[in-house]
Amino acid sequence: MFSLFIYEYEHEYGEDRFGMVGRFVDPFQENVLLNVACSNCQSSAMIIAERNVVNTNLDGSPCYQIVLVCPQCHSSDEFSVNQGKEGIISKTKHSHIQIIDTMIGN
Ligand SMILES: [Zn+2]
Repeated sequence: MFSLFIYEYEHEYGEDRFGMVGRFVDPFQENVLLNVACSNCQSSAMIIAERNVVNTNLDGSPCYQIVLVCPQCHSSDEFSVNQGKEGIISKTKHSHIQIIDTMIGN
């Protein structure tokens, strides 16, 4: 049933299975600047260094681990997208900041 669902979804929407599956399209791609403070220095922005698929949720959406790196002190932080459910974004692991998509910088 699950693979049939994926097939039908891809057939209908033409999306890549490990890309933007589902309605929620997250903007947290590699090399994007995020306006979230570094927990180690005074930097007010961090860069998305890695985007890793962790697992697949029960609703079929992929759960991503997003790794942030500070451009000033190079310390890292991380958060999750689609944590347990599509559209749920976690707080950062070290600085405990709730990530929202309006934090995307230019
Ligand atoms: Zn820093």
